[in-house]
Amino acid sequence: MRYAFAKRVQHLQSSAVRDLLKITDKGDVISFAGGLPDDDLFPVEAVEKAFAKTFQSGGKAFQYGPTEGYIPLRQVIVDRMKQKGIPSRVDDVMLTTGSQQAIDLFARVMFNPGDIILTENPTYLAAVQVFKSYEVTIIPVESDEHGMVPDDLDYKMKKYMPKCVYVVPTFSNPAGKVWSLERRQHLLKSSRKKKVIIFEDDPYGDIKFNEEETYTPISALDNGDRVLYTSTFSKTVVPALRTGWIKGPHQIIRMMAQAKQAADLHSNSLSQHALYHLSCDFDLDGHIQKLRKAYYNRMKVMQRLLDEAQMPGLSYIEPKGGMFFWVSLPEEVNTAGLLTTAVNKGAAYVPGAPFYVSEPKHNTMRLNFTHSTEEKLEIGMKILMDVFKEAIEEEHQRV
Ligand code: PMP
Repeated sequence: MRYAFAKRVQHLQSSAVRDLLKITDKGDVISFAGGLPDDDLFPVEAVEKAFAKTFQSGGKAFQYGPTEGYIPLRQVIVDRMKQKGIPSRVDDVMLTTGSQQAIDLFARVMFNPGDIILTENPTYLAAVQVFKSYEVTIIPVESDEHGMVPDDLDYKMKKYMPKCVYVVPTFSNPAGKVWSLERRQHLLKSSRKKKVIIFEDDPYGDIKFNEEETYTPISALDNGDRVLYTSTFSKTVVPALRTGWIKGPHQIIRMMAQAKQAADLHSNSLSQHALYHLSCDFDLDGHIQKLRKAYYNRMKVMQRLLDEAQMPGLSYIEPKGGMFFWVSLPEEVNTAGLLTTAVNKGAAYVPGAPFYVSEPKHNTMRLNFTHSTEEKLEIGMKILMDVFKEAIEEEHQRV
């Protein structure tokens, strides 16, 4: 039977790449595809203790709770954001089912079909899927390693009069880059001038490799009414707790809370209570430091392996944090076309093309370096580089 789905579901359909990558989760394929933290670095004992305390503390954590989330955890988040220079009040913070839900609820309450949003190109694929599902028109802004290029941003602000600019300015997914302070300030200035909202998605900000450097969130530069800021415990504690948050202008957060009531009443209270206990009893900042060191070492291993491949035409920007290398390969390599070969040989990556809003570059790919041990990084990268080298050789013979 053919079911008459709504028009908007066309943007929800699975892609061939995603189907193929699903297989890699099961077999012995070394996968650099998912944006996954390392299983062995999960603070299992601390999470266990936090849940034990939650269970001991009685019925409240088992009951329905407020849509905006457990107030003590929101207070913890307010305090943690303050350390990053982001001013907020508990009332302006809502807990969500991962920051992914924050993106969805925001889009749900803000966009009419045909509204325009500016993004980088490439940008976070699952945000693009959300925006498309609400029939938003996405216009890419030119960007370089420092962020959106000011001239192009200003030109597109004027030409398209967007409702919002969506950015991942700190250790982006997929490009692994960090915006300069000047570009952050410019975006804010430009958005103020045109009365445009900024949606700052910051799941990776804590995973920074240089303790000395600070990357001021755009939200910390704002006077409170222009920027929405979302982050998550997925990368610093565990993704399974599905707890993220959004901070922003009270009116927007209130509207999003109404949309959340319709979506799921509230997010998982047990997770929220456990995260509260965890943040009181566990040295979360110490844990984050441990993650930074471990992920930095893995990033360096992957970087060495990329360099040792000595492939003319291969380029990347060294990530200053986060979880990804964004790699450009020689023009003749089509990463989507070679994925099946790579998976059959035992290693996976995400081809770059799906991350582009327009004009995809087929010779790009995203590599995650946080999920694999050094040994797996060595083996997997050898497989990948051999696949690409072979393809280049074949192409040269053909021409
Ligand atoms: N934004 C970006 C840029 C991401 O990479 C991710 C995770 N892949 C998310 C949001 C969503 O994370 P979560 O829902 O686990 O908080």
